[in-house]
Amino acid sequence: MIRLYNTLRRRKENFRALEKEVRLYTCGPTVYDYAHIGNLRTYIFEDILKRTLLFNKYKVKHVMNITDVGHLVSDNDTGEDKVEKSAKEKQKSAWKIAEYYANTFKKDIRELNIKEPDIYVKATETIEEQIDLIKILEKKKYTYKIEDGIYFNTSKLKNYGQMANLKNLKKGKRISAPEKKNPADFALWKFSKPTEKRQMEWDSPWGVGFPGWHTECVVMSKKYFGIPFDIHCGGIDHLEVHHPNEIAQAEAAYGKNPAKFWLHGEFLNLKNEKMSKSKGKIITLKDLKENGFSPLAYRYLTLTAHYRSKLNFSEKALLSAENSLKRMKEKMKELSSPEEEIKHPYNDKFKEAVNDDLNTPRALAIAWKVLRDKKIEKKIKYNLLLNFDHIFGLRLKEEEKTEVPREIKKLAKEREKERKKGNYQKADKIRKEIENAGYVIKDNKKGFKIKKI
Ligand code: AMP
Ligand code: ZN
Repeated sequence: MIRLYNTLRRRKENFRALEKEVRLYTCGPTVYDYAHIGNLRTYIFEDILKRTLLFNKYKVKHVMNITDVGHLVSDNDTGEDKVEKSAKEKQKSAWKIAEYYANTFKKDIRELNIKEPDIYVKATETIEEQIDLIKILEKKKYTYKIEDGIYFNTSKLKNYGQMANLKNLKKGKRISAPEKKNPADFALWKFSKPTEKRQMEWDSPWGVGFPGWHTECVVMSKKYFGIPFDIHCGGIDHLEVHHPNEIAQAEAAYGKNPAKFWLHGEFLNLKNEKMSKSKGKIITLKDLKENGFSPLAYRYLTLTAHYRSKLNFSEKALLSAENSLKRMKEKMKELSSPEEEIKHPYNDKFKEAVNDDLNTPRALAIAWKVLRDKKIEKKIKYNLLLNFDHIFGLRLKEEEKTEVPREIKKLAKEREKERKKGNYQKADKIRKEIENAGYVIKDNKKGFKIKKI
């Protein structure tokens, strides 16, 4: 039995699938910039959830949206559209920006060994359905029009914000716009400004504009899953605005909460503050790679904390995760044996840990206990860890491609950067430095390879 912490009722509950196949919807990225490793922590947690369902022999259908329109700079439905703003800054088309960052996101996902969703769906692919939902809400008298758009009247719903305990929250948390009826009301359709030509805009019964961010997920999940479906996930920041607003629309339009289980992943912090663009420094997977770290070392780091606990990021913590992963892989190399399915009490202990609300720190501790247990024979150890890796996703079986020290990898990345910029002299200097340290770089079509001399 899998037990999951359901934010709807703030307690762990036994998970039962509604139908044969578990329907899992995860709020995806807003594609205006590279995902930062905080965002990626959330996708790793969702991957562990999916792997746990698969481990328990469930079939899973996973849908993830790509927010390419409608996510405004402020959660209060004000400010610019993030994608349009990024397009302006980079002097590219909004469509191209969205496509580019959706692709870099997918690459990050693959490098972190996150199982890809069965369906990626872009918000811009379901504009018609979003208009249809707003029409239903309008007919049921949940909407009103103000100068900049059509809004949802949250005071019409008795239980608005119940999941987030919003009643207990200070209303001031959401700044009230002068024309809004209630501070928590949110935009369903925003009008294009008469003074500004948007790149992404559509005609609608209310005027030319674009849909609000909270409408897309209701429409997309219903389109692929119907209502209700099994599990809806996202980062903890969605608990206060995005998810209550999704629930509000579904309850108003269809009389139902869209999902049976709502799961939220805690933040990755940097110096005890949520990693976020608006707070200043963010770190991307690319940054980690440029510093010689492998994406899977970051994956390992996230597994050391429970998904409902905050995780403080530091280079020291990442170094330690990298070392642990390296040691685990070395042990696997030593233990290497024929693969077979085995029965062993450690398998049950491991399953118990992950089925208990995805307790990855406990699962990792069990893996180390197995590796250190002198009474277990080599072949059993090896196969136990291979089984555990269905959850960890650390590619424990695969040998490290190169035993190259991180400093050398970092230098090689720097050289590549300089080379791309046309700074050949600088690049050559770094190459010599690498050679002096006993390594050689071989360039190829895909990039480069580092070998020991
Ligand atoms: P966005 O691309 O801004 O729509 O966010 C993508 C996902 O990352 C959402 O599920 C957010 O809740 C989540 N998220 C944002 N910041 C963090 C963070 N510092 N740590 C973990 N998850 C985050
Ligand atoms: Zn969403």
